[in-house]
Amino acid sequence: MFHFDNSYLQLPDKCYSKVNPATVKHPELLLFNHKLAEDLGLNKTDDSEIAAMLSGNRIPENSIPFAQAYAGHQFGHFNMLGDGRAILLGEHIDPQGKRFDIQLKGSGQTPYSRRGDGKATLKAMLREYLISEAMYALGIPSSRSLSVVKTGEAVFRDSVQQGAVLARVMKSHIRVGTFEFAAFYGAKEVLKTFFEYTINRIYPDLKNTENPALALLEKVMQQQAELVVNWMRVGFIHGVMNTDNVSISGETFDYGPCAFMNVYDPKTVFSSIDEEGRYAFENQAVITKWNMAKFAETLITLIDEDEKKAVSLAVEQINRFEKMFRAKWLTMMAAKIGIEQPEQDDLDLIKELLELMQVHKADYTNTFTGLYLQDFPKDNPEFWEALLPWKKQWTDRIQKTAGRMPAAISLMKKVNPVIIPRNIHVERALFLADKGDMTLFNELLNALQKPYTYNEALKDLLFFDADFDENYQTFCGT
Ligand code: AMP
Ligand code: MG
Repeated sequence: MFHFDNSYLQLPDKCYSKVNPATVKHPELLLFNHKLAEDLGLNKTDDSEIAAMLSGNRIPENSIPFAQAYAGHQFGHFNMLGDGRAILLGEHIDPQGKRFDIQLKGSGQTPYSRRGDGKATLKAMLREYLISEAMYALGIPSSRSLSVVKTGEAVFRDSVQQGAVLARVMKSHIRVGTFEFAAFYGAKEVLKTFFEYTINRIYPDLKNTENPALALLEKVMQQQAELVVNWMRVGFIHGVMNTDNVSISGETFDYGPCAFMNVYDPKTVFSSIDEEGRYAFENQAVITKWNMAKFAETLITLIDEDEKKAVSLAVEQINRFEKMFRAKWLTMMAAKIGIEQPEQDDLDLIKELLELMQVHKADYTNTFTGLYLQDFPKDNPEFWEALLPWKKQWTDRIQKTAGRMPAAISLMKKVNPVIIPRNIHVERALFLADKGDMTLFNELLNALQKPYTYNEALKDLLFFDADFDENYQTFCGT
């Protein structure tokens, strides 16, 4: 099925541990992403073969399974980590020559499992499948989900749950935490080899720059800023932006306690373990800067032999973050209200809108849809009434643009999703799927494939129950 290569295994052997996935009792293929399989050029094979390989029961040809070592700052604290419940089968080379990690998640213990069981629950893996594929359809760089295989085994959490294994596909699983591991490990040779590997694999263009380590820092910063701006465009809250969950390739990944915001409130946080709101919606920018500072620390010895000089170059680069982020954010928010080339004054217009949304508890997604879609059902009449003076200002502003309202609407349609995975629907779908009924899950998954298209028939998915969200919490490591 795969065309595996194993370049990661040429790294110093501290960087990984060879380990086979655990075998499972009754593998049953519950979800398979045919379109993704086709795009990856995977050879067709029957379901039982797929279930055997993507549950860990049969090691595919040319696979040398291993777990990656990494470290990370978790809620601000440094820890040695590593794949505790994930095992890489190998790097699949697609027909265009592109390289993709194929990883099993929930496939048993590894040397990095610490006290964990290495397993994953069916509900958590279905959730990751749904949200990651929704993110991809929204046009946001993300890990992809190839399959969910039920294991037929029990997993013990707060309650007894069904077990499952997810197959995850990513350009690379190298993270800020992998650099932290290599730097912490001490031997400069390990860090240097790992750094060169990363550049060659992910950003070969940086090889010929004057200072590749500094160029990598800049590149990753840009990618992360871009990514978080994209999250904010659609109301996504990652929930656990620890440095071990920040990918160097700029892909969203590790969908644990993530969720989409409904009612606009910049302080929104759903994760049960984020008591202080460290990873709240509006904090995602400053946390990204913090994470990039941690990344910079790992690169110091590679930036310059003179430590003082290296630190000053790194600090200079990190300090560019705010300005860069603000510019990207303004462009994104302006596009959400149909302005392609924002001016400084547009910031006030945007802020006023956000304030009104917050005061009137308006839905983040539906506000933007309601602005351009005349007959879109308005479920918060009080908000739309209060918005009238702002709408007048906004219309005047749009009239001053070259393309007027038609161009504004066409831009708004491109950047404002109509359908997002709303917590209430996600939970209902998972509840039923856990009971063996995949109907709603598949309907939701399907609807999320075309998030920018308004479809009357899917009206039920556009609304939410604010009471449900108020008490909604997501859980990590399940
Ligand atoms: P996460 O919060 O999912 O990014 O995971 C943080 C760390 O905990 C990683 O090193 C994971 O591999 C590890 N981990 C999470 N769940 C489990 C589990 N059930 N068994 C072993 N390790 C786990
Ligand atoms: Mg993680």
